Amino acid sequence: MDSQATAGLVTAARQAATAVPVSRQQQRRRYTMLVCMSTATTTIIFEPIPPGDLDKIRTAGVDEAGNLLTPQVDAEGGSPLRCCLRVTRPGEQVLLMAFTPPGTAGPYAERGPVFVHADPCPGYQSPTVYPPEFRHRPQVLRAYNHQGRIADGVIAEDGDHAMAVIRELLTRPDVALVHLRNVGYGCYNCAARLVPQP
Ligand SMILES: [Zn+2]
Repeated sequence: MDSQATAGLVTAARQAATAVPVSRQQQRRRYTMLVCMSTATTTIIFEPIPPGDLDKIRTAGVDEAGNLLTPQVDAEGGSPLRCCLRVTRPGEQVLLMAFTPPGTAGPYAERGPVFVHADPCPGYQSPTVYPPEFRHRPQVLRAYNHQGRIADGVIAEDGDHAMAVIRELLTRPDVALVHLRNVGYGCYNCAARLVPQP
């Protein structure tokens, strides 16, 4: 055995001799940490258009395509709002603007029309819950992969069906996020993603 290896053994022996014995409490804490790590779970969140992005767009008065934004009254109501993920009340002021949904790239980065409140609103306050006012609406669930390409597309009858499909799609390793879109026109409503549970 060379002198370097001997020195290493001596150091290790000294460390062992001076190591503080691990108490039962410490052992339990270590075990609890391991259990927490191994059972760490994820949750699905529903994302509106980020409020910060909307603030900039409203302030600029033009959308990403350069269209001038003009507040208009939604007389009948019932239009999906992408700022707070509910439908408009009759008479609310809205903006109709062009928007490219997140998670898309290259030829898959489609720009489309969306309604948002004309004035700042509280946004979507319960991101872990399927938007309640969208539950009765059929949706196209379009999954995108990590390169921003379409990975799948499924039509869901209602919110319950949509949740089951979204859960399945988001378990696939190639799926980064899922768009919820209107059936027929295909307009983007919001995105669903898997995030670590806080
Ligand atoms: Zn809103």
